[in-house]
Amino acid sequence: MTAQLDTLAEKIESIARKFLPYSGFDGQYINGDRRPGHANRKLKDTDPYTGESVAEIALADQSDLEAAYQSALKAQPAWASRLPAERAEVLGRCADLMEKRRGEIVDWVIREAGSTRIKADIEWQMLHAITLEAASFPHRVAGRVLPINEPGKESRVYRQPIGVIAVISPWNFPIYLAQRSVGPAIALGNSVVLKPSQDTPITGGLLLAKIFEEAGVPEGVLNVVVGASSEIGDAFVKHPVPRLVSFTGSTAVGRHVADLAVTSPLIKHLALELGGNTPFVVLDDADLDQAVPAAVLSRFLHQGQICMSTNRIIVDAKVYDEFLDRFTAHVKTLKVGNPQDLDTVIGPIINSKQLANILKLIKETRDAGARQVLGGDLRDLVLPPHIFADVTNDMPIAKNETFGPIAPVIRARGEDDALRLANDTEYGLSSAVFTRDERRGLRFALGVEAGMTHINDTSVDDTPTGPFGGEKNSGIGRFGGDWIMEEFKTAHWITVQHAPRQEERK
Ligand code: NAD
Repeated sequence: MTAQLDTLAEKIESIARKFLPYSGFDGQYINGDRRPGHANRKLKDTDPYTGESVAEIALADQSDLEAAYQSALKAQPAWASRLPAERAEVLGRCADLMEKRRGEIVDWVIREAGSTRIKADIEWQMLHAITLEAASFPHRVAGRVLPINEPGKESRVYRQPIGVIAVISPWNFPIYLAQRSVGPAIALGNSVVLKPSQDTPITGGLLLAKIFEEAGVPEGVLNVVVGASSEIGDAFVKHPVPRLVSFTGSTAVGRHVADLAVTSPLIKHLALELGGNTPFVVLDDADLDQAVPAAVLSRFLHQGQICMSTNRIIVDAKVYDEFLDRFTAHVKTLKVGNPQDLDTVIGPIINSKQLANILKLIKETRDAGARQVLGGDLRDLVLPPHIFADVTNDMPIAKNETFGPIAPVIRARGEDDALRLANDTEYGLSSAVFTRDERRGLRFALGVEAGMTHINDTSVDDTPTGPFGGEKNSGIGRFGGDWIMEEFKTAHWITVQHAPRQEERK
C-alpha cells in the first residue's frame, strides 16, 4: 500500500512539475537527483543589472564530481544501445519543451546572464535550432564498407559513441553554448558531465538539465556539477572517465585544459572553442548602407561579449571618415540600460572583473594616443558604447579580445594592407569583409586566416548546419552539422578475413 502511494505521489509530482515554473535551482544534478553539493560553500548567483540574488547554490566538491562521472559511465552503454528513434525522440521533446517554456528560458537568460531581451531571444532561437538539428543526428550516423586490395577480406568502419564527454561552457551564451555540446553528444549515444560557468550555473547547466529530465532522458545520461574551478576544475579535466573534453571559453583557460587533457594518464580527445579577435573589414567600394548597421550589430550585440564580436573595424582610408561619421551617428541611437526593456541594445557587463579589464583597455587606448569619438559614464555594470578612431594594430585594444562595448576603428591603405592587418593577430575565429564586388570579397575571404568569413554580413553568425570554429589560437575542431557528428563519434576500423590469407595457403 505504501509503495503504491509513493508511486502515485511521484506521478502527481511529475505531472505538477510540468505546470510549475522552472525554479528551485540550489544544488547539483547527478544521476537524475537534484541535491546540494558537498563543498561546504555556497555560490551567490546574481543578476548583473539589479545586483539581486537569483539563487544560492551549494557547490560541488571532488566527491560530487566522482559521483557524476560514475553515473555517466554507468548510464552510457544502455543509452548508446537505445534505438536511434528513441534518442531522437528525447531531443525532439526537449525542443517542444523549449517552445512551451520560451518565455521562462528567455527570462532566465536576461536575469542571470545580463542579456538584453533582444540577445536572449536570439539565444533562445539558436538553442531551439541546435536541439532540432541534434534530434536528426541519430538517423544520420552511418558506417562504411571500404574497398580493400586483399582477397577474401572485408574492411568496415563503425561509428561508435566516444563514451563519457566532459563539457565546460562559458557564461556569454550560456544555455546555447552548453547545448551546442550537450545536445549532439547525447543524441549520438554519449553521456555527459557538464560544468557550467560560475556566472551562469542555471542557464549554463541546471535549467538545461531540467529540460532534458522532463523530456525523459534516462538518469545519469546528463549530469551537471556546479563547482569552483579552483576546487574541481583541474580534476574535472584529468578524471580518467571522460574520453573527450569539449571546452568553450578563453584561450588562456583552454590552453590549460588542453595541457591537462593530453598529459593525463589516458590522453583525451579535445574540442576547443576559444577566444577571438575578429576583424571587420570595409574595402573602398563597400556599400556603407550595408556595412554600418552590420558593424554596429557585430560590435555591440550583447555588449560585445561574444567570441565572434567584431574586435577591430578596419576601414580603407578612402572611406574612413565617412564610415566613422555614419557609424558614430548610428551608435549614438542605441538604447543603453535595463536589459528587460524591449529595445535596449546595451545592458550590463557580466561582472566587475570583466568590467575592470575593459576599463583598463579604455585607459590604455587613450594613453596610446587614439582619438575618442564617443564615450560616456559608467552606471554600476552598464558601460555605454565607446568608439576610438586612429587606432593602430599594435595598441592593446587591437591586440586583445576586449569583450566589451568598445569599437576601435583602424585605417587601412588599400586591400593588401587591410588583409595584412586582418591577419596580424594570434586569433582566427570569425571575420567579415564588405565590398560591392562579390569576387573581390571571395578573394579577400580566402586570404583571411580564420575559420569563418562573412562577405557583406555581420561577423556574429552561427547556424546549426555550418562548420563553426577557429584557426590559430581560436581553437581546434568544428561544431555544427556533419562536423560535430565527426567530433563526437569515433571511427572504429574493423576487418574480417573471410578466408585464409593467400600466402598462407601456398
Ligand atoms: P573562461 O575561459 O574564463 O571560462 C570558461 C569556462 O572554463 C568556465 O566555465 C570556467 O568556469 C571554466 N574554467 C576556468 N578554469 C578552469 C579550469 N582550471 N578547469 C576547468 N574549467 C575551468 O571564459 P569565459 O569568461 O567564461 O568566456 C569568455 C571567453 O570565452 C572569451 O574569450 C570568448 O571569446 C570565449 N568564447 C568562445 C566561444 C567560441 O565558440 N569560440 C564561444 C563563447 C565564448
